[in-house]
Amino acid sequence: MLENSSAMDQQSAASAWQTKLACPVCRGVLVHASDGLVCTNAVCGCRFPTVDGVPILINESNSVFSTDDFLEKRQTTFTELKPASGNRRPGLLRRIIPSNSRSVSRGNDERFCRDYTDPDQVVLVIGAGDKGYSSDGGANLVYSDVHLGEGVDLIADGHDLPFQDASIDAVLAVAVMEHVADPQRCAAEVARILKPGGRVYAATPFMQQVHMGRYDFTRFTHLGHRRLWRRFREVESGIACGPGMALAWAWQYFLLSFSENQTTRKYLRAFAKLTSFPLPYLDEFLKHKRGAYDAASAFYFIGEKADTTRTDRQLISEYRGLDSP
Ligand SMILES: [Zn+2]
Repeated sequence: MLENSSAMDQQSAASAWQTKLACPVCRGVLVHASDGLVCTNAVCGCRFPTVDGVPILINESNSVFSTDDFLEKRQTTFTELKPASGNRRPGLLRRIIPSNSRSVSRGNDERFCRDYTDPDQVVLVIGAGDKGYSSDGGANLVYSDVHLGEGVDLIADGHDLPFQDASIDAVLAVAVMEHVADPQRCAAEVARILKPGGRVYAATPFMQQVHMGRYDFTRFTHLGHRRLWRRFREVESGIACGPGMALAWAWQYFLLSFSENQTTRKYLRAFAKLTSFPLPYLDEFLKHKRGAYDAASAFYFIGEKADTTRTDRQLISEYRGLDSP
């Protein structure tokens, strides 16, 4: 039974992003019900529950996750690494040994968000994790993810984003596209929900070992990443993490492959970090070198939704590296 039969966009109390929601299964109109949201499309009629006030907007037929995963608060993605309390102190080794991860494009995503200052604008963060952005009190920042973390506004799967066509101003997908089963479909979904001229900020690994275990599927070269966002006009792209970080990670995972014992692996990881943490600092020197485009750990892309799709012939003219055919 519907408690409120008016469409969400007629509710004055709904925030800007809630008025943009659509059924993740059929893109139909959603209305509030006693136990969550319901699709008004008679053929669909799907129901989407809420957990602790967070709507679970998953198309179960097309996702590695089920609604029950969230209703029963099962471990999804990195919840197993970061307890909900968030208060657990990292172990001694993690505290005293410097990280061998370092981005040379850090701050780009923050600057991207700060461009959106109108309270009517909606910036969707896909795979939010525990990352918080600031729009300087401007646009609505909406955090979606596939785990019930702190600050997550809605549970959504990138393969079926629960938003209306051309309704969102900008999308951030940082370290997300390697974790989705079908990145091409996710990129098409981002293009679908963005307004004409809407922008995407994506950062995705190229040379990086498996992380987040079973939820890690794909890597992209700089050109492969450009092709993924081929429905967009490029505003800017470049190296997010350089060859130094790629080497540091390769060294760490090389050592880790020697042992399955958790304690041994802990010390191997610490040794690897201790002996490789300076490498990513060299990336500041390498980040504009052409050869680094063939060896980087990750790339970023900022694009504007375009009317035309970049063809593969145009694509190869954008190769930036030095490798000869
Ligand atoms: Zn529906």
